[in-house]
Amino acid sequence: MTGEIFSIQKYALHDGPGIRTTVFMKGCPLTCQWCHNPESISREQERIFYKDKCIGCNTCDAFTKPDLCPSEALKYVSRTYSPEDLFDEIMKDHVFYEQSGGGVTFSGGEPLLQVDFLLEVLKLCKQHDLHVTIDTCGFAPWTSFDKILPYVDLFLYDVKHTDSKIHKELTGVANDLIIDNLKKLIEIKDIYLRLPILEGINDTKEHLEEVKKLITSDHVLQVNLLPYHNYAENKYEHLMNDYEFKPFKRPSDEALESLESFFVNQGIKTVIGG
Ligand code: SF4
Repeated sequence: MTGEIFSIQKYALHDGPGIRTTVFMKGCPLTCQWCHNPESISREQERIFYKDKCIGCNTCDAFTKPDLCPSEALKYVSRTYSPEDLFDEIMKDHVFYEQSGGGVTFSGGEPLLQVDFLLEVLKLCKQHDLHVTIDTCGFAPWTSFDKILPYVDLFLYDVKHTDSKIHKELTGVANDLIIDNLKKLIEIKDIYLRLPILEGINDTKEHLEEVKKLITSDHVLQVNLLPYHNYAENKYEHLMNDYEFKPFKRPSDEALESLESFFVNQGIKTVIGG
């Protein structure tokens, strides 16, 4: 069994407690219009091309053999791992996890899209007592959540919009399954609720009021307000696929502080950023 991983970020500080390694898994059932990781959406292998590095040698045989490119102008986006190889990579930094109360976070993409591979890696992580966090969009059958629950300490759970029709326009899918899964999960597992915030899209008090209604247990340890940024614009340019960058607006600092106050005033720990 193998999994497709497009990035492994070391010393991550925003994807759960302590110092972490964040593993970005390829494939996502959503197509968020503001996606920061467009290389994550397709489950298939893809190529990325940096024109300014290309020396025109054609060693890649008309862009078909990225592995042969001598100048790193052409690369595959992701790499295939066995559960054991990925676990070995994660364990290289176990000293930092121990010292900081950190661990490993699986993000993407949507990690649950590769649930059987994920399960094998999680078993290895728990055999070694690692703190495990899953960053999920929530759009997966409950049976997939059920499989991994015994091996997970914390979920980072996205709520992108509480209006299902708008959610579908923005992400390609309705939010019913996401909300249903959240209602189950919130009773049994610790959660950081993550709200991407885009000006004029989901920065309204109405949306926050609906989010507040979802917080029905003490398992929600904090809310993260994630302001939109356009850092991914470059990636869209270089990726050899059809996704197009769509610009949105970052909310002002004042607007973010106002949203933060909404939750803080109700006794909910709230963090602006990851
Ligand atoms: S092998 Fe690399 S440098 Fe050579 S033509 Fe292909 S992309 Fe350009």
